Amino acid sequence: MSKKLRILLIEDDPTDFRLINRHLSRAGLDIETRRAGNASQLRAILENGDRWDIILTDYALPDIDIETGLSRLMERYPQTPIIMVSGTLGEERAVEMLKAGLEDFVCKDNLSRLVPAILRALKNSEIRREKEASEARSRMWTTAFEHAAVGIFITDPDCRILETNRAFSQIMGYPHDEIVGRTPGVWKSGHHDRDFYQSMWNSLQTTGQWRGEIRNRHRSGKLVDQWLTISAVKDDTGSVTHYVAMFSDISRLKETERQLEYLAHHDILTDLPNRMLFNTRLEQAIEHARRRQTMLAVLFLDLDRFKHINDSFGHAAGDALLKEVARRLRGNIRAEDTAARLGGDEFCLLLDPIHTKEDAATVTGKILTAFQQPFRVENQEVHVTPSIGISVFPRDGKDAATLFRNADAAMYQAKSQGSNGFAFYSKTLTDRAFEQVMLENALHKAIQNRELRLYFQPQVEMRTGKLISAEALLRWEHPDMGIIPPSRFIPLAEETGLILAMGAWVFQAGCLQAKNWLDRGLHPGRLSLNVSGAQIRQGKLVAEVERALAESGLPPASLELEVTEGFIMEKAEHSIEILERLRGMGVSLAIDDFGTGYSSLSYLKRLPIQRLKIDQSFVRDIPGDPDDMAICRAVIALGRSMGLDIIAEGVETGAQRRFLLEHGCHNGQGFLFSRPLPALEFERKWLSRPPQGIEAP
Ligand code: C2E
Ligand code: MG
Ligand code: MG
Repeated sequence: MSKKLRILLIEDDPTDFRLINRHLSRAGLDIETRRAGNASQLRAILENGDRWDIILTDYALPDIDIETGLSRLMERYPQTPIIMVSGTLGEERAVEMLKAGLEDFVCKDNLSRLVPAILRALKNSEIRREKEASEARSRMWTTAFEHAAVGIFITDPDCRILETNRAFSQIMGYPHDEIVGRTPGVWKSGHHDRDFYQSMWNSLQTTGQWRGEIRNRHRSGKLVDQWLTISAVKDDTGSVTHYVAMFSDISRLKETERQLEYLAHHDILTDLPNRMLFNTRLEQAIEHARRRQTMLAVLFLDLDRFKHINDSFGHAAGDALLKEVARRLRGNIRAEDTAARLGGDEFCLLLDPIHTKEDAATVTGKILTAFQQPFRVENQEVHVTPSIGISVFPRDGKDAATLFRNADAAMYQAKSQGSNGFAFYSKTLTDRAFEQVMLENALHKAIQNRELRLYFQPQVEMRTGKLISAEALLRWEHPDMGIIPPSRFIPLAEETGLILAMGAWVFQAGCLQAKNWLDRGLHPGRLSLNVSGAQIRQGKLVAEVERALAESGLPPASLELEVTEGFIMEKAEHSIEILERLRGMGVSLAIDDFGTGYSSLSYLKRLPIQRLKIDQSFVRDIPGDPDDMAICRAVIALGRSMGLDIIAEGVETGAQRRFLLEHGCHNGQGFLFSRPLPALEFERKWLSRPPQGIEAP
């Protein structure tokens, strides 16, 4: 023992004191002894507050009642062992004393027991102290575990849960008793893939630790974001005995983080992505398009006169308008496209992917249409039009910045061209697509808005100038663009299928007009109507003609249908059947634009037709072009040999008329006689008075 052993010896007999002291010293103990010989000395010592390693006391003390003395001592020095050193003591008495807390009893007659008794007592007291300390520590840990703010759970090596604390139950919703024996798999959220758990496991095995963010599921089903630390606890041999996991609930933090992230990437007013997010998406899309060799389009959109609305209605109204603009934009693009607000009244769209440049024009058309609806601002209807600039990857730029800049430039071009416009970065495409979109939008409404008209062009007997029939030719009277000729809208109508509705309208309007003339005693001769290939293909032609005739009451013999040669050739067998049914109804049939479609003679013979119309391209260069003249002669001869009526289209000059007459073509149609005229004018010029003959030159 390195330190002196401090001994309190309660002994009234000085001889005994010395004896004991000597005995202890001789035994090699390094001691420092104080004697209390009577009650007052003992009191003084107790009051002094000294600390003792061991207390030795005699039994019979003159002025001390040993029992109260002992209990005072034990109270005062609870940790210090007390050994009684005295003369003989009855066995019963000794046992009583031991029960009361005395450490040991040594007889003065046998002092040789004293040292071992002291050593044993010291040892016992040490053990007791340690045990108490460890109990205190353990109480401390339990309290810390239970009251920790972090959730804690401890598992066995197989991940079966052994312990959980209060915070665990608070964060995860599982009471301790319910979760013990189960594994953490219970609260998996499904938000992490296999790799995530695999790497967690790897880290635990190699480093004995894992820490990171994890998303788990509360007992109620709601998600909890956690910051989790797991440590493996190992025994001396290095094998895992437990895993201790501690986590804090960072859901609020993550939610804030998500909100901040959302705010950083979105426009608060419209909820659309902002410029930053748009750029990121555009860059990703370009990368993607490059790899897949696809196209994409960037549309830059700016509202015309927005500032004016803002100034006159106020900012709140302006904001409401922008929100509605955002809604309409979103409503007219696909889910995979992006609409973003760049700020102010500037928006940007990313169309990804597109297959042709016209796809971008189509979406633009839809957006322009969506803006035709007025906006409600402060209970008033206002019209807001956008200007849209379009650039297409890879043609107009290979990187985000260039595409952006070029769409912006195109937008300015669109704006300078006037309101409600759009422009592609490249001009030619703009023109084509513009017309396409404009016309397509407008064409849809043309019938409904009663913008279609029939013009009538006389077909005459060229020698006398007598009217023999009238060809109805379709015109579109656009409110802004004026009269649009069929060459500009018929191909589009055919492409979009609108030709069917238009054709039906032409039948109705044509037949009604002709019947109206007949009823009023005016005689236009036969009415010629043009039929497009699409109408024949659709299979409703016969029914539609029947209906138009029935509804108008026009006799079938007064109607002639012109079918182009090209189409008949293309759908030979099918056309013959349909033409035969029409013929069966008593309707006349003519082949329009004859000479351009390479009809075979044998085939021509099988067609139930009455008339050939020599295409104007052969008439145009008469009398200069010998080839055309030869063709005209041949067509005339062919027609006559088959007993068909022949009429020449596009007769503009007297020389053409003369040539045709000379070679046996008696009928003609063309500017020489009249341009196509609106019904009223046609009526005035050709029906209300005897037709004016053309003077033979
Ligand atoms: P088409 O049936 O061959 O009609 C003759 C075209 O020649 C008409 O053009 C007419 O205005 C034009 N024309 C008449 N005389 C002369 C002339 O002396 N010189 C020149 N250069 N041209 C002359 P339009 O009205 O522009 O019609 C063009 C084509 O559109 C028609 O060719 C026809 O194929 C089609 N079309 C017109 N109306 C209808 C319709 O109601 N339905 C269908 N399916 N097609 C129609
Ligand atoms: Mg025609
Ligand atoms: Mg023609």
